[in-house]
Amino acid sequence: MEPTPAILFKDQTALDLAERLAHLGATPKLTRKLQSHIVRNGQNFPKEIEQTSWRLLKQIEEATRIPSLELLDKRVSPRDGFAKYLFRGEDDQVFETVRIPLLHRPGDEKYVMCVSSQVGCAMGCAFCATGKMGFRRNLQSWEIVDQVIQVQKDSHHPVRGVVFMGMGEPMLNYDRVMKAAEVLCEPCGLAIQAKNISISTVGIVPAIRRFTRERKPYRLVISLTAAESGKRKSLLPVENVHPLEELMEAVREYQAAMKQRVMFAWTMISGFNLGEEDALQIARLTAGMRVKIDLIDVNDPSGQFQKPTMEELHNFRSALSRELGQPFARRYSGGQDIDAGCGMLAGLGSLEPGCAPCVHRQA
Ligand code: SF4
Repeated sequence: MEPTPAILFKDQTALDLAERLAHLGATPKLTRKLQSHIVRNGQNFPKEIEQTSWRLLKQIEEATRIPSLELLDKRVSPRDGFAKYLFRGEDDQVFETVRIPLLHRPGDEKYVMCVSSQVGCAMGCAFCATGKMGFRRNLQSWEIVDQVIQVQKDSHHPVRGVVFMGMGEPMLNYDRVMKAAEVLCEPCGLAIQAKNISISTVGIVPAIRRFTRERKPYRLVISLTAAESGKRKSLLPVENVHPLEELMEAVREYQAAMKQRVMFAWTMISGFNLGEEDALQIARLTAGMRVKIDLIDVNDPSGQFQKPTMEELHNFRSALSRELGQPFARRYSGGQDIDAGCGMLAGLGSLEPGCAPCVHRQA
């Protein structure tokens, strides 16, 4: 007979655990205490818990496992404190996480983390080397949650926000990503507020619709980069499958259901998407919606795609101010000196020098 697979901590909520361990006599109260010990404090299985028999704890310990990522490398920018971690998960594949410091408010110092959801990516965006790696595998929920647990343990201030903008397309690993987000939000766990979790997508329409239908409380970020279908197609192959028209219909449905401002990410590429016409197209595309546009410099070490010149940037911002009538901001891209800046993640950087970076985390 096949052995029953162990129930994994970090892979499910306290309530899920209670259901799966009910036959042993574990209550939701007990699994919350275990979750607090293991997920919030990042500890091993407890030797004792108040008002819980030694025998029950032993049975739970035998039925469960606490999986852990292996930290292979960590680099901290002396310039701005951004930190990049390289992890290995349940096999030999490696992936990266970036810790973004928000330390400017005395008494409210905190971090936001940019996590990976897949190793590699099937989407093949032209300016993204992760896409060039191809898809390798989905990360398990625990592999996503443990990125946060390990970085939290290594940090002097709390992690208050998580953005799914590392390697991979989160909406193509929907179930595991949503489960991980749920675990991250648990009050007995890392207690990250749902509104401080952002799920970024290049435009997987069926998953966006599911996200809306399930009324997920996390922020939705759409990686746009071009607001005209032909132009978008030239960089983002997803446009061939889920064209802008269909994407915007799904985003409008989301906004109507959730009443949330939608974030659009615009990767700025010199000579490509910084003209007056681009600003007009964004305005037309988002007419009647509440949106915010995040402008991010492309960061392509291959040199094929260049950052905007000062003049392009100035003109594009002026055009957006005139045409859009909605907030937009240029996002600071830190950690560039340690290759952790926007567009500089090299998923296999430390192990396979020369692998180009993932830029999805810009979105
Ligand atoms: S930008 Fe994002 S969706 Fe596109 S290939 Fe890179 S990781 Fe995948």
